[in-house]
Amino acid sequence: AEEPPQATTVPKGGVENLVIIGSGPAGYTAAIYAARANLKPIVFEGYQAGGVPGGQLMTTTEVENFPGFPEGITGPDLMERMRKQAARWGADLRTDDVEYVDVRNRPFTVRTGETEVKCHSIIIATGATAKRLGLPREQEFWSRGISACAICDGASPIFKGQELAVVGGGDTASEEAIYLTKYAKHVHLLVRRDKLRASKAMQDRLVNNPNVTVHYNTETVDIVSNSKGQMSGLRIRDVETNKERVLEVKGLFYGIGHKPNSQLLEGQVELDDAGYVLVKEGGETSVEGVYAAGDLQDHEWRQAVTAAGSGCMAALSVERYLTSAG
Ligand code: FAD
Repeated sequence: AEEPPQATTVPKGGVENLVIIGSGPAGYTAAIYAARANLKPIVFEGYQAGGVPGGQLMTTTEVENFPGFPEGITGPDLMERMRKQAARWGADLRTDDVEYVDVRNRPFTVRTGETEVKCHSIIIATGATAKRLGLPREQEFWSRGISACAICDGASPIFKGQELAVVGGGDTASEEAIYLTKYAKHVHLLVRRDKLRASKAMQDRLVNNPNVTVHYNTETVDIVSNSKGQMSGLRIRDVETNKERVLEVKGLFYGIGHKPNSQLLEGQVELDDAGYVLVKEGGETSVEGVYAAGDLQDHEWRQAVTAAGSGCMAALSVERYLTSAG
């Protein structure tokens, strides 16, 4: 393998030590560690989540499970704190979307609409996007009745003790439905096909849970609201008879999967069948010097704290990689 370059506080020959792509918990945590290690990282924050940096948590209200905030903290506040911490240690934050990455040739190239940067290492932390149904009133009720994360939102006062619905027929949706029974009065699992795709073990758990009703051949058409503008139910359709009716629920959880934002690395590093970046311990991808962190490489845990943890590991790995030649 090619000899890795030495870490330098001031990049030599116009080649930067490290470029970090993404500004969710993984990207900012990597930035904090790398900046403190004097690597002078450049962070391309991106602005895909609602036109601002900060990633998925910019689209939510309270985060109740990030350690260190016993009273909870809003998603945007948490991300602003991480951003400030990265800036305080000297990370070079740039609010640009990366359009092109080349890790086939060294030094690596990272290009935005405005600039091109050459670098010895890259941490990519571009996250994943929860798939949505695209219901007509979806935007109006996003985070106000609709959620894509039962673990994050299940215990929230707007859902606690209520009848809730989960959409999807695979393991994720089934697991979300079972998880929500801890807090909900009753959970309705809405499955478009006439059977579940979930594993046999998961199906057994569902059938044996008296607090879950599975509705097969059922499509979700739209949200129904009350006079206060709150979600009061869902308009659902039986796909066999085409008959519509209202299911009275106060919350809708999407369990229809996530799409990792791995397009930049397609054909350059190994991805799994669903497009998640395959990593070794410490976050290294199939290309030496290229690391992935956060939801982009994690289809299982998908939490802010796990994303932050993997960002930390990737930054420490980069530090080792850049200094190992010495
Ligand atoms: P993300 O947060 O997805 O950030 C990805 C970043 O990459 C973004 O900044 C994006 O702009 C940037 N990016 C993408 N493409 C490019 C590009 N081409 N160039 C530059 N930048 C790019 N988890 C919890 O632990 N607790 C919660 O309460 C919680 N609530 C949630 C509520 C909602 C509504 C959602 C959607 C998720 C929630 N999560 C929660 C999950 C949590 O948000 C994610 O696990 C976490 O944000 C993943 O972090 P990440 O850094 O991997 O990626």
